[in-house]
This record gives sequence, structure tokens and C-alpha cells, in this order.
Amino acid sequence: MRTCLRCNTMMIEDLDVKVDMQGYGIKITKKGVFGDTVKKPKVAVCPQCGEISFYIGDLDKLKG
Ligand SMILES: [Zn+2]
Repeated sequence: MRTCLRCNTMMIEDLDVKVDMQGYGIKITKKGVFGDTVKKPKVAVCPQCGEISFYIGDLDKLKG
């Protein structure tokens, strides 16, 4: 469960990121390993103040 950093409201999680750039989405890659996609980020939105929070659901690849 994620709470808003600003107003501490429970956020709506697990939303997809959509960047309309010729169908290309945002991808998070590991530093120094070009092209190694870690995971597509998810977004949580606060219904109270509209704060948006990016996060990655599966952090296993980052830890390795
Ligand atoms: Zn908020």
C-alpha cells in the first residue's frame, strides 16, 4: 500500500504509464548496462491532491 507523500492519502496504485511517442513507452534501465531493461514503471495517483508517484513493482533485477 502506498500513501501520498504530500497529504498521506491512500494512493491508487498499479496504473500504467503511457507516453505517446510513436508508441514508445517509458523504460527503466540499469545504469551502465545500456539496453538492459529492468522493468516498466508503474504509477500511483493520489485521488486527493493529484500527486503522481512512479515506482517499480519488481525490484529483483535492480538488486542483483
Ligand atoms: Zn496527496
